[in-house]
Amino acid sequence: MDYKKYISVVEDFPLEGIRFKDITTLMQDGEVYAKAVDDIAEYAKDRNIDVIVGPEARGFIVGCPVAYKLGLGFVPVRKDGKLPREVVKVSYGLEYGKDVLTIHKDAIKPGQRVLITDDLLATGGTIGATIELVEQLGGVVAGIAFMIELTYLDGREKLSGYDIFTLTQY
Ligand code: 5GP
Repeated sequence: MDYKKYISVVEDFPLEGIRFKDITTLMQDGEVYAKAVDDIAEYAKDRNIDVIVGPEARGFIVGCPVAYKLGLGFVPVRKDGKLPREVVKVSYGLEYGKDVLTIHKDAIKPGQRVLITDDLLATGGTIGATIELVEQLGGVVAGIAFMIELTYLDGREKLSGYDIFTLTQY
C-alpha cells in the first residue's frame, strides 16, 4: 500500500517552516485505514503482545483499532491532570519547555509485553517518555509501531535498543 498517497502534507503548520503530515485524509478512507491497522496488527502478532499503550491523542487512533483487532486491552497515556485515578508521571523536553505525561499506576502488570503506538515518529521525545512510563510499571516494551517515520530527525537513534515498525517514511 502506498500510504503516502493518502497522507496530506501541510506547509507551515502549526508553525512556519514545518511540513505537517496529516493522517486525517488516510483515516477518511475506510479501506486504507483498515489496511494500516491490519499491517500494524500483523507486526504485533509475532511479538506476543499482552497490552497496547498509546499517547494522546493520535496514539489512540492507531492503537485502539489494533487492540480491538487482536482482542487486547488498550492503555491511554495522557497529559497531566486528565486521568482520574492514581498515576505515575514523567516530564519530558519539548522544543520549547517541558510537558508531563501520565499513566494509571495499575494499568500494566510487571512483565507484561507492551506494544506502543503513535501516528508519527519525529525526534522520539513523546515515545521516549511513554517507554519510561511503561518501564516504571515493570512492563516490557516488546515493539513500537507508527504510521509515519520522519527519518531525518533520527528518532530511531534516540529509541535504539527497541524494535520499531513504521508503515511509511519521509
Ligand atoms: P516527537 O516526540 O517524536 O518529536 O514527535 C512526535 C509527536 O508529535 C507525535 O505524538 C505526533 O503526533 C506529533 N507530531 C509531530 N509532528 C507531526 C506531524 O508532522 N504530523 C503529525 N500527524 N503529528 C506530528
